[in-house]
Amino acid sequence: MTEFTMSTDADGVALIVWDTPGKSMNVMSIEGFHQLSRLVDDALADEAVTGIVLTSGKAGSFAGGMDLGVLAKMREDGGDDPAAGILDGILQIHTILRKIERAGMDERNKGGKPIACALPGTALGIGFEIPLACHRIFAADNPKAKIGLPEIMVGIFPGAGGTTRLVRKLGAMAASPYLLEGKLSDPKKAKAAGLIDEVCDDPLAAAKAWVLAAKPADIVKPWDAKGYKMPGGAPYHPAGFMTFVGASAMVHGKTKGVYPAAKAMLSAVYEGALVPFDTALKIEARWFTSVLLNPSSAAMIRSLFLSKEALEKGANRPDVPPQQVRKLGVIGAGMMGAGIALVSAMAGIEVVLVDQSKAAADKGRDHTAAYMDKGIARRKTTPEQKAAALALITATDDYAALEGCDLIIEAVFEDPKIKAEVTAQVLRHAPQDCIFATNTSTLPISQLAKASNNPEQFIGIHFFSPVEKMALVEIIKGRATGARAVAKALDFVRQIRKTPIVVNDARFFYANRCIIPYINEGIRMVAEGVSPALIENAAKLVGMPLGPLQLVDETSIDLGVKIAKATRSAMGEAYPDGAVDEVIFWMADEGRLGRKAKAGFYDYDEAGKRGLLWDGLAAKYPAGPQPPLIEVQQRLLFVQALEAVRALEDGVLSDIREGDVGAILGWGFAPWSGGPFGWLDMLGTPYAAERCEALAQAHGARFACPDLLREMAEDGIGFYQRFGPARTAAA
Ligand code: NAD
Repeated sequence: MTEFTMSTDADGVALIVWDTPGKSMNVMSIEGFHQLSRLVDDALADEAVTGIVLTSGKAGSFAGGMDLGVLAKMREDGGDDPAAGILDGILQIHTILRKIERAGMDERNKGGKPIACALPGTALGIGFEIPLACHRIFAADNPKAKIGLPEIMVGIFPGAGGTTRLVRKLGAMAASPYLLEGKLSDPKKAKAAGLIDEVCDDPLAAAKAWVLAAKPADIVKPWDAKGYKMPGGAPYHPAGFMTFVGASAMVHGKTKGVYPAAKAMLSAVYEGALVPFDTALKIEARWFTSVLLNPSSAAMIRSLFLSKEALEKGANRPDVPPQQVRKLGVIGAGMMGAGIALVSAMAGIEVVLVDQSKAAADKGRDHTAAYMDKGIARRKTTPEQKAAALALITATDDYAALEGCDLIIEAVFEDPKIKAEVTAQVLRHAPQDCIFATNTSTLPISQLAKASNNPEQFIGIHFFSPVEKMALVEIIKGRATGARAVAKALDFVRQIRKTPIVVNDARFFYANRCIIPYINEGIRMVAEGVSPALIENAAKLVGMPLGPLQLVDETSIDLGVKIAKATRSAMGEAYPDGAVDEVIFWMADEGRLGRKAKAGFYDYDEAGKRGLLWDGLAAKYPAGPQPPLIEVQQRLLFVQALEAVRALEDGVLSDIREGDVGAILGWGFAPWSGGPFGWLDMLGTPYAAERCEALAQAHGARFACPDLLREMAEDGIGFYQRFGPARTAAA
């Protein structure tokens, strides 16, 4: 397959065009690397060629990144020694990029040919590491284009020289948002930050003109010139010292040490800054290899990249014609309804937002105005975009305005009676074939569907709060929900660019089913006399974004009380959470309802800023001997992961990818682990089963090993071995 082609024009400029057949955006393959290498060799050796311009044949983009198959192949090539295979493969890539950078120069920087890169648009990952190796980078003035190195977001870091080059180009401090946070920029911002050199209407022409005019000094990278000093100072320079000490603390503060990639990248940067460039590349390659061999990076790539993308592209979409939403009705303009209207209007969908009064509906629409104003203040949005979004939202108290809607989502109070009334009222005005969705977070869909005369057109579309921020949408099939309703919900989620999971109807669906036990376990430990600080820190040190006590403060303790009472009355004798209720009912009596009351498990100041854990807890539940950290962490993770396994056993989940992606995006389940199933696989099912038994003995039946996990432990197989994508597709 030809991925790179070359032609030389009358001026002697060789144009290398990257155009991966059959893909809308270029992705780098092993064969692609070889082709690029050969063409660069040919151009450098050809006396008729004066310089090279590298560009893409795709409109609007240079390249989206590397085919992950490249890394898998390197690992395979290593046979019994995958580390050697990866290191060797990475060093070969370095050699190719270094060849571009040196462009035939000798050791005294004499005799090379200029090589420029022309980016029609988006350049990500290896698609930006290659330009970084060229002598000058030109980009089209394309505000939609994204330029940067997002590798850290999926648990790796730029390993084809991008880390070393960017740090040497910008300095460690200036490079840190791009490397440590994976920050992406449009071309103008990328130029302002020094990532690229020029933004112009015709980058190809500009690159050619530059190549023809380039002087010998223009093609020597600063780090290859005599007297190079790293911007901002290398580690032993006083300013550099400050940066590196600060960076180390900041990275550890943010990652709590559970993300191997951030730590490894920082080591590559620090150690690389102490040595010459070519040695720094080798150091980068070694750290990159160590990260690739860490199970966390494989799990993160799988869940946050491969599975997430597969779900967004409709991996579990029924085979039904496209169901794009043209006109959306949203009933209830409160916190959730207003957010749903906002994200839909931002996706260009016409929205009718209905509430009990015109004033309440207007208030919901105002949320879009306020959100857009914030974006304008931060220069992320334009007044035109704000006007366009607002023009799409009609706020009204008149259900008749729902005429012509093809999807209606209700987000009224969490009360089955009100929801039933609203459903009946909507159906009087909505078209016959309209899909009706509920955003309920706790009420069974099949039950609510009884209010509809078309239960096959009734579905749950469960957003998380705040809607504009949370990437996950949980789609819930009721017993009678039909394929078109599922497809409609999935196509809608795709339109608003969020990530869907599709689950079956059961108490609390999937996300809340797992997160409630997490919160409860934290509260239960408080009652046992475990120090609240230990509970909160144990959660964060194992990669949870919020400790269970902070989480319950955020969601409010009275909501916890309400859910506890409803669950208790539904479950009767079997209700297992009495110990938890004792604590939260007492907290509620004390008026400590959480953040909104400026008093909860934590203290808050007048402005609502969270302070320390409330010392009243220690007075009521005095600390006894404290359990080891690992015990607290395992309780907090197992209690969620076992619920995920039970959700799979019960058929609430039908695809473990949805279980893992949903857990990370829905409630932040330790992302380094790739999700609950990824975590259990990482522990190994035999060890996981053994730990459950021990925890069940010590702490109760909620840790009892589910049959499915026991069976798998006996067979010595993992969840992805048994239920991975190939199996799911075959099922
Ligand atoms: P909210 O109280 O902020 O808003 C509810 C809105 O519905 C109010 O504006 C109210 O005036 C309106 N309403 C009530 N009866 C109505 C009727 N008959 N016709 C039209 N409008 C009516 O509540 P919320 O937090 O936005 O929650 C709404 C739904 O979303 C609930 O089912 C809730 O369980 C679910 N949910 C909430 C969250 C969350 O974090 N708040 C998360 C996921 C799902």
